[in-house]
Amino acid sequence: MSYFQREFVANSAAVRVSFGPGVRHRIAEEIERLGAQRALILSTPQQEAAAQTFAAEVGALAAGVFAKATMHTPVSVTEEALTEVAATGADCIVSVGGGSTTGLGKAIAYRTDLPQIVVPTTYAGSEATPILGQTKDGLKTTLKSPEVQPEVILYDSELVTTLPVGMTVSSALNAIAHAAEGLYAQDRNPLSTALAVEGMRAFANALPAVLTDPGNLDARGETLYGAWLCGTVLGQVGMSLHHKICHTLGGSFDLPHAETHSVMLPHAIGFNAAAVPDQLAIVSEIFDGSSPGKALHDFASRIGAPTALKALGLQEADLDRAASLATKNAYWNPAPLSREGVRALLDDAYHGRQPEL
Ligand code: NAD
Repeated sequence: MSYFQREFVANSAAVRVSFGPGVRHRIAEEIERLGAQRALILSTPQQEAAAQTFAAEVGALAAGVFAKATMHTPVSVTEEALTEVAATGADCIVSVGGGSTTGLGKAIAYRTDLPQIVVPTTYAGSEATPILGQTKDGLKTTLKSPEVQPEVILYDSELVTTLPVGMTVSSALNAIAHAAEGLYAQDRNPLSTALAVEGMRAFANALPAVLTDPGNLDARGETLYGAWLCGTVLGQVGMSLHHKICHTLGGSFDLPHAETHSVMLPHAIGFNAAAVPDQLAIVSEIFDGSSPGKALHDFASRIGAPTALKALGLQEADLDRAASLATKNAYWNPAPLSREGVRALLDDAYHGRQPEL
């Protein structure tokens, strides 16, 4: 069976993707291809050494290194980075890292329209989307805009070998979440569905080998390939309950991004399984279970991912407020949403129970 739909609208961004072990060494070539001469290289403080290595490698094409990227893209950090852009006369951005670093690059591009090259080192997938989430005064807001979409992505499997095992499994489930919710998106199209299915297959196939040998470049490469496809789905179609709950738990309770996705995914997919059984049947097949939520729960347990919100630091007393916040504003979801239904789902996720479906 193909993924044909009788009617659809599909949007694809013009992005240049280079893929392969060692492809990061082509960074100077990519800066010049953009017509740029002075790249500001971004990273988190933890990955500053990697950013400095990039700067040394491109020599005069580096305007400097700004190593203050942090989770949830605080506007105060973006403002500091913009001062650095102006002071160095940077004419392009190179983001080396996970979603936090890519987020800072996007925030700069949104305000300056500078072109971006992203060298991802996690599976979050932000590099493949025109979406920017940023925080100001404790409030996280999200926008979608073409200026935010990075122009060039260099996927280098060698860079992901240093991702710790815990972050590897959580980040992989974060990516799988984009694909799983993409399967039932109202605005899905045959291409987004094909990308979602292939992205999930890549993770199901390669992740066990990555966990056996984190330095296995073929397996790391296949998981990065999965991250690209799943991230592209996120960039193309709308998300529902799962992403909304994770946004709430991250933004209002400061839970860690990738780990929260890991815990919530089986529950959100199990919650929606009865409403869209045909769209989600492929999830049971790929992750080898009797229902989509159970299959994801058991897959997450097998690979050692966190499965309970209580292990991430959420308090049981927070569940009522989390359920209210996640259902405060109306949004489309395949299964009807009620505060009680979401409260029950959060209770299962808090205790790490296996979903019913
Ligand atoms: P992250 O970028 O915050 O990285 C987590 C930590 O791991 C950091 O300390 C980082 O330096 C370190 N790290 C990253 N790669 C490493 C590697 N290969 N080796 C060793 N250490 C490494 O985590 P993330 O999960 O990639 O990104 C989360 C952020 O991205 C959140 O703010 C989230 O909202 C955002 N995000 C945005 C989108 C979008 O489309 N806008 C999509 C996904 C995620």
